[in-house]
Amino acid sequence: MTVKCKINTPFDIIIVLPYLFSDHPSFPEGILKKVLEKEGFSVGILETPFWQKKESFAALGRPRLCFAIVTGPVDSILLNYTSLRKRRNEDLYQEGGRAFFSGYPPSIGYKIRPDRTTLVFANRIREAFGDVPIIIGGMEASMRRFAHYDFQQDAIRRSILLDSRADILVVGMGERQMIKIARRLNEGTSIKDIVLPGTARAVNAITSGIDIEEIPSHEDILQNRKKLLDAQVALERALRHGKKIAQRHANRFIVEEPAEKYNDSDLALAYDQDYSRSHLRPGIYSPALRMNLFSITSHRGCGGGCSFCSIYCHQGKGILSRSGDSILRELHALLRHPEWKGSVSDIGGPTAEMYGTNCAKETCRRQSCLFPDRCSNFGNPEAYLELLRVCRNIKGVKKIFIGSGLRYDLLLHFPELLEEIMVHHAGKYLRIAPEHTEDSVLGLMGKPPFEALESFVQIFNSINKRLKRKVELAPYLMIGHPGESREDIVSMKAKLRALNIKTTDVQVFTPSPGTLSTAMYCGECSSSSSPVPVVKDVKELMRRKRFLIG
Ligand code: SF4
Ligand code: SF4
Repeated sequence: MTVKCKINTPFDIIIVLPYLFSDHPSFPEGILKKVLEKEGFSVGILETPFWQKKESFAALGRPRLCFAIVTGPVDSILLNYTSLRKRRNEDLYQEGGRAFFSGYPPSIGYKIRPDRTTLVFANRIREAFGDVPIIIGGMEASMRRFAHYDFQQDAIRRSILLDSRADILVVGMGERQMIKIARRLNEGTSIKDIVLPGTARAVNAITSGIDIEEIPSHEDILQNRKKLLDAQVALERALRHGKKIAQRHANRFIVEEPAEKYNDSDLALAYDQDYSRSHLRPGIYSPALRMNLFSITSHRGCGGGCSFCSIYCHQGKGILSRSGDSILRELHALLRHPEWKGSVSDIGGPTAEMYGTNCAKETCRRQSCLFPDRCSNFGNPEAYLELLRVCRNIKGVKKIFIGSGLRYDLLLHFPELLEEIMVHHAGKYLRIAPEHTEDSVLGLMGKPPFEALESFVQIFNSINKRLKRKVELAPYLMIGHPGESREDIVSMKAKLRALNIKTTDVQVFTPSPGTLSTAMYCGECSSSSSPVPVVKDVKELMRRKRFLIG
């Protein structure tokens, strides 16, 4: 366990996290610390506490205002298990990727990141400090804020707010909410009285009304797993309509307040800071920090609306882009980094070329900006083209790669951008994510039909013919999504072969908490209530994967 110590006076806020703290804007804990300090609060960092003992959580004492538990950009169960429910023995966010406390046996009891970290940490803090305010946030808390499916346990679990006994759950992007919570606590407001946009709490009663969407209860879902899909559909609709959302859990309710839109100044506050891009102990690197050392986040949000992706219920489908000046300031700061060798590993967001495609519409009822067709209000990726041109011409920058995902169905309409990416920003491979080829499965995934991939490959091949240095397509493929049959896999292999596309990067669908696809998997039906086939048998999934790769 490593802590950052402060003597005599308590920290205002203590951030607790199950991996190495990174002072880097690609990591939520790095941003959170900077924005809270900018507000004048002192922030202690308690990283990798030995969670088996409550005393480990007392290493920095009791904070004056609150604990904030941050578990990073990925749910602990997804990091601790493969999609086939096998335990992982490595953790990219730890020193050397080592997942276990040193000096202890490599067993689950000594994993640095415990399963369902948020609730383990929150309960230990309660044991150590009783009624101290506890705030939870990040992907794990966000996606488990209502009753959800946990694929490792194959069980419906109640809201993480109840199991963790945390006071407030910050939904999605959290800097603004955390600042407001800290200000209110600092003014002396009781944690019980803090109700803010973009947060969720457990309460004893709600007042029904037209501004509140009550989704099927935890008990309804326990009785009938199909209700999880009803709940998910209602939740996503309420998010689009900006409504308050409530879900009954026995005699309590989980209530989520509608979020406020983040704006440019929120992003400027988060990113225009002096980050050291190091852990607390300089000179060591977790694989995750090493990979992201020279990456730049250009925007948040994704308009894709894919059913299996967490981004919709976490960051939302609205694109929020940083200003070009802010990105350039960050790029210039990279040039001064002691390890800078000239390459930027990424400039992007959830989908790289969505930078600058911000939509001005205040309300929107669509699930996706791109599916079933591209919305006429969705912007063109010209801003991204321009940004890349400016950035790669900066003296000292030798190469800019694009590590973020690219939507090929967007790129096919902008061959100029595609060509520049192939010439200047791709390595040997250009990574795209068609995921599947069968329209029935693609439809359930919320992805474009196969013909979009065919058109893209045609354009890609015609550009490639003109290039001196050839680029290969490396597609991410997914098997085992609800709705897929064995015949689909046979057809998929034949179609990809016909397009001369590799089938080496195949992942098995993971029913992660809080997505539409997971609700389909759980209820074995689609959102139109039609039954869909679901494969849960590991041997069958392995057979499909081997067949596709072979
Ligand atoms: S395009 Fe990528 S980031 Fe966007 S919703 Fe789909 S899977 Fe998620
Ligand atoms: S109006 Fe169109 S572009 Fe804007 S958010 Fe809705 S679907 Fe996306």
